[in-house]
Amino acid sequence: SSIFAAVEMAPRDPILGLNEAYNADTRATKVNLGVGVYYDDNGKIPLLAAVKTAERTRLETMPPRGYQPIEGPAAYDQAVQKLLFGADSELLAAGRVVTAQALGGTGALKIGADFLKRLNPAAKVYISDPSWENHRALFESAGFEVENYPYYDAETRGVNFAGMKSFLQGLPAGSIIVLHACCHNPTGADLSDAQWVEVVEVCREKGLVPFLDMAYQGFADGIDADAVAVRLFSTSGLQFFVSSSFSKSFSLYGERVGALSVVTASKEESARVLSQLKRVIRTNYSNPPIHGGAVVAAVLSNPELRQLWEDELAGMRDRIRAMRTGLVEQLKAKGVAQDFSFVAAQRGMFSYTGLSAAQVETLKNDFGIYAVSTGRICLAALNSGNIGYVAESIAQVVK
Ligand code: PMP
Repeated sequence: SSIFAAVEMAPRDPILGLNEAYNADTRATKVNLGVGVYYDDNGKIPLLAAVKTAERTRLETMPPRGYQPIEGPAAYDQAVQKLLFGADSELLAAGRVVTAQALGGTGALKIGADFLKRLNPAAKVYISDPSWENHRALFESAGFEVENYPYYDAETRGVNFAGMKSFLQGLPAGSIIVLHACCHNPTGADLSDAQWVEVVEVCREKGLVPFLDMAYQGFADGIDADAVAVRLFSTSGLQFFVSSSFSKSFSLYGERVGALSVVTASKEESARVLSQLKRVIRTNYSNPPIHGGAVVAAVLSNPELRQLWEDELAGMRDRIRAMRTGLVEQLKAKGVAQDFSFVAAQRGMFSYTGLSAAQVETLKNDFGIYAVSTGRICLAALNSGNIGYVAESIAQVVK
């Protein structure tokens, strides 16, 4: 018999299943709010002008395609560090940050998880309740036991900060805490700056290992404003991890461009940590691909392209905000009594709308509007052409 005879069918990815159902829907008015991608006002994934220009220049020079350094080129890694930690960071000057290019934010999380498993095999990993669905699977596949810490408060549609803090205070030293640096996926509910200060303090007091996941830098308030958690941990004297991604901020989803940065206690420690990260990478995929990272590094190091990118990023951020406030206003205008103003207060691409699984099902069946059964919608999938229809449909479903 076949060596695969006993292989079981793995569970389907719920969001991919949603996309398949959406694609098969023949209604012209259908809307897919289940996606995790930024679409422009025409419903298209943008190719940023800064990226196009950098790509054209690269194509003209026809660079050879040798292997990259295992940790990616220094120009890329340093550009990432400046975005995350700030160009004038003391940590960078002291050589206390090591960065390795990674296959998107996902790849960065996996490198960090594999390294942490070797470092502290007995530690448990804690992720927010709820969290990006891949967090649990990623850390479990690295061999960790994964548990939730309290996070979302369905009543306030914000963060249950008291619950989160007291839970973290009860954890044993060495516990690994995965924190969404900004634009929490899936809820859109972020910590305030003051709450971040408290989280840093708990991590210090209890000897926790913070792992910041920064997948949406620039999508909430701006490049530096969105890095507040990273900056606060930076001044704490603690060691911590940051996974980061250019999938959203550069609209380079399929190029797989991200990075893992690790903050150590000293330059000498950095060298040892980097050597171990390189070992993890070498035994997984050897070294990262060239194109996406080269484009990002080119844009970030060229003042004109950098400005263009910052403007385009601000455009994406502003459009998401406009969709948030637009949806709130239109729901109100359609006579919805329920207060949806929390949608405008949440940040990033997503919102936990509070729509029930049954309401989500009705939206799909009766209106061709697809959302995740948890009530998560992607605000970046709204546009001036569909927002009225979506608001009208939600109004009918919640009335
Ligand atoms: N972390 C979070 C919280 C995310 O939402 C995502 C993307 N949806 C990622 C990491 C991974 O991003 P990438 O596509 O760069 O792997």
